[in-house]
Amino acid sequence: MSITGQLLIGQSSVQGTNAEIWSINAATGEKLPPAFAGATPDDLEHACALADAAFDTYRETSLNDRAVFLETIAKHILALGDELIERCMTETGLPRGRIEGERARTIGQLSLFASVVRDGGFIDARIDSALPQRTPLPRADIRLRKVAIGPVAVFGACNFPLAFSVAGGDTASALAAGCPVIVKAHSAHPGTSELVGQAIQKSVRDCNLPAGVFSLIYDCGLTIGQTLVADHRIKAVGFTGSRSGGVALMNIAAAREEPIPVYAEMSAINPVVLLPQALTERGTDIARDFIGSLTLSAGQFCTNPGLVLAIDSPALAAFERAASVAIGSVTAATMLTPSIHTSYCEGVERLSSHPSVELLGKGQAGGLFQGQAALFATTATAFMAHTTLREEVFGSSSLIVRCPDESTLLEVLKSLEGQLSIAVHVSNNDHPALGRLLPTLEKKAGRVLLNGFGTGVEVCHAMVHGGPFPATSDTRTTAVGSLAIHRFLRPVTYQDFPQHLLPPTLQDHNSYGISRRVNGVIQPS
Ligand code: NAP
Repeated sequence: MSITGQLLIGQSSVQGTNAEIWSINAATGEKLPPAFAGATPDDLEHACALADAAFDTYRETSLNDRAVFLETIAKHILALGDELIERCMTETGLPRGRIEGERARTIGQLSLFASVVRDGGFIDARIDSALPQRTPLPRADIRLRKVAIGPVAVFGACNFPLAFSVAGGDTASALAAGCPVIVKAHSAHPGTSELVGQAIQKSVRDCNLPAGVFSLIYDCGLTIGQTLVADHRIKAVGFTGSRSGGVALMNIAAAREEPIPVYAEMSAINPVVLLPQALTERGTDIARDFIGSLTLSAGQFCTNPGLVLAIDSPALAAFERAASVAIGSVTAATMLTPSIHTSYCEGVERLSSHPSVELLGKGQAGGLFQGQAALFATTATAFMAHTTLREEVFGSSSLIVRCPDESTLLEVLKSLEGQLSIAVHVSNNDHPALGRLLPTLEKKAGRVLLNGFGTGVEVCHAMVHGGPFPATSDTRTTAVGSLAIHRFLRPVTYQDFPQHLLPPTLQDHNSYGISRRVNGVIQPS
């Protein structure tokens, strides 16, 4: 396949006629041919009409057909081979190993959702049989299943050009639920987006699905993306990116005549709590691993450890010294886009020039568009007093907050906004303190982990990559893992229906053989 710069609207490749968009070499800032062009309102109208027309057929595809579709996408992405890897490396500045790993993750995610679809448990089928003899009132025959919500708009992430972009977690979970998807490509990697989009387009064709199951559009400003969210045929939005972008789309969705859910994953600083015994026993090792996590992929992870909380002590001082030494040898790395690099430098400068913040160490200086790692420290009093110290600095910068005692550390935790993850480093003697902190940790984050770091989010059934605002816009869900499918489903009850008019998953003869809750008791598949 080759990159054409064209929009993918259903099964058509269309030359956009709005303003030009250029893909940029992240390392040099040079334009990469070909030029892309933004979608027009007519292009968007076409994509929405096709998605709407595809919905009824696609949502009732058999579980096996839908699973095969997801597996076919995975196969076609793999078949893109090195062309995809090299384009993605050039557009993002991320190294080959990282991009290959991300491709494996993307394929794994599609396979996971294929198995979730085949299993059928996500339908949450429930049957409460009629009780005609019940007194004082008889009960009707009441059956429930979850159905696809409708066409979904997806805004992919800049920092996961494969696993959270065109065929990433939001798209995979929406397609698994039975929803057509329109992706607004991220401007940071349009060529990568087109290649992956072509793989999905081909999969739609191979699986004989309606053309409107998938479209990919580019936006030369913000208007087309915003119009997409406002379109009455779109029924939900998946978004990963900045707080300001996510909130802008949430506001548009809420102001519609028919408001719709926006599942936005936005901003987090992912605190790391170092409890005293762990610091004393393993402070140097934790410091080394912390710097490794902080500087992975130039710190451009939503789960990057941007905040460290600990009780001031000689052990914390030793940790700070070890972390300062470790960060000193970290080489600078190319950031995803020149504008993300600029924002990072501004964030580091904001901390450097803050009167209550001490610079503990910096990584090696780099070239154009390369982020230099930075580690800072402050007091709990200053941290509580200055809200700017809590703002995410997207990149490899972190702030250590020295707390005088455990109760102050707890107060600092309570003062934080919602987080994707909180990591706590403990030894056995720290367990009582962990028990005291846990109720607060649970309220603040979607994932609490021990003796590790939030970077590296396993794609599995028990994962939550979510959390209270502003980590996400909806604290009840996750963007990673099989539970993500429920964002794009809604329950429907069928009361007193004849068997032949019920969907197969709710008929007495359970032809798909799925697990169901019948009269309150789960009947396995
Ligand atoms: P972004 O600027 O919010 O962009 C995300 C997507 O939304 C892009 O497609 C962007 O369009 C679009 N967009 C942004 N604002 C919009 C608006 N007001 N109306 C309509 N569309 C809008 O985020 P980003 O560039 O991917 O990353 C920048 C920041 O996001 C980082 O500094 C970091 O703080 C945060 N981030 C968080 C996570 C996380 O998982 N929590 C992950 C990645 C990034 P364009 O393509 O035209 O820009």
